[in-house]
Amino acid sequence: MSVAIIGAGVGGLTAALSLHAAGQSDILLLEATREIRDVGVGINLPPHAVRELTELGLGDALDKVGVPTKELSYYDPKGQLIWAEPRGLDAGYKWPQYSIHRGTLQRLLVDAVRDRLGPSAIRIAQRVNNVGTTDNKAVIAATDLTEDRAISYTADVAICADGIRSPSRDSLYGAVTPLASNGWVMYRGVTKSGPFLSGRSMVIIGDETQRVVVYPIADGVINWLLVRPKDTARGETELGNWNLPVSTSVIAEFVKDYRFDWLDVHGLVSASSESYEYPMADIDPLPRWVFGRCALLGDAAHAMYPFGSNGASQAIIDARVLAYELATAANPDDALRGYETQRRETASGVQLANRRQAGDVMARVSALARSGAHGDAKAELQDVERRYKQLAGFDVDALNTRKSWSVSSVSR
Ligand SMILES: Cc1cc2nc3c(=O)[nH]c(=O)nc-3n(C[C@H](O)[C@H](O)[C@H](O)COP(=O)(O)OP(=O)(O)OC[C@H]3O[C@@H](n4cnc5c(N)ncnc54)[C@H](O)[C@@H]3O)c2cc1C
Repeated sequence: MSVAIIGAGVGGLTAALSLHAAGQSDILLLEATREIRDVGVGINLPPHAVRELTELGLGDALDKVGVPTKELSYYDPKGQLIWAEPRGLDAGYKWPQYSIHRGTLQRLLVDAVRDRLGPSAIRIAQRVNNVGTTDNKAVIAATDLTEDRAISYTADVAICADGIRSPSRDSLYGAVTPLASNGWVMYRGVTKSGPFLSGRSMVIIGDETQRVVVYPIADGVINWLLVRPKDTARGETELGNWNLPVSTSVIAEFVKDYRFDWLDVHGLVSASSESYEYPMADIDPLPRWVFGRCALLGDAAHAMYPFGSNGASQAIIDARVLAYELATAANPDDALRGYETQRRETASGVQLANRRQAGDVMARVSALARSGAHGDAKAELQDVERRYKQLAGFDVDALNTRKSWSVSSVSR
């Protein structure tokens, strides 16, 4: 079976590795950028994502470059602890949780793809414009950007993993899928700085008016992000663009009161080497992911607000389930149907939960904390976290005991 994958992001690359591990050899990745650069800032991989990458043989490589998160803690705006819980191995999972630079993760996956599938498995500068199905084949229309000419590809199956603004999705639906926003902005950056708290802590500080998240992503490198309503004076910003630079001083002003004896957030943000703004964007859950021989995967299928460490994780799980189905179902059509059945409802639930988490949850918890009821706020957060883990696939017992999506262990 031949498979074309559109997009060499976290989802597309993991799909290539998963298909290869499941015994497929005719795999081609088409990537629009002319060069794969280490773009982005921090990203989190909870144990459900790490399990999949570990089962793909990447556990040691991840451990060399990622920071194994020890705990997650919520603080009110005055720096008072509301709630903390262990994470990763410390929480009883069989797999760690890692914080890592997105570029480092993408590089690790690119290297593994080139190593296992061959140096020409990823074809860069191929901008896909249109996908469809003719005579049981996926047909892909692209532009070869190096030669500025139209080029087409055919494959038994096309996996459309071209991100939040997915042109493949738009061509399959015959219309541009609108991006939705709650009017908030996420400012993101990294700063060279020494460790804080345990050295492997992830902290969330704030209330319903703004929230700061801080965690280390490498030795001496701290990732931070600030989420707050968009400053209307700054005019319109492009939805779905992860690479909009912004002046760090604008952001530092928002956190001028966040200076605690355990972490100087203002100092950290002020000393940032790079900062970006990302207007919160997602899409409504889609009614359909599979069109003939073309299947949506990752952000193309279920772009979500970047809360709960699940953007990359859900893409990784899509990739594993799709590869499993393609290797074990009677034919590609059954496989694609099986993939959509297993994944669409769950991922849609996570999309909607991330919207709620952005709003209602913080309002309620913050109101409790402001009235001094830190214990009630803690119970509320604990309950929300528990339900979110069950939904997204990282309840500790369920994850530790569920069957693997590795195909080698299944008789075919
Ligand atoms: C540049 C960039 C920076 C990011 N930074 C962060 C970050 O700092 N923190 C965070 O949490 N998340 C970040 N994300 C998002 C995060 O990577 C995804 O939410 C998650 O990993 C799901 O991955 P994905 O593979 O579905 O999509 P993406 O990671 O978005 O990958 C999509 C890929 O498809 C390619 N592509 C797009 N259009 C076409 C086309 N027409 N033809 C061919 N290829 C195409 C893109 O170049 C990209 O390589 C970033 C994404 C991008 C693209």
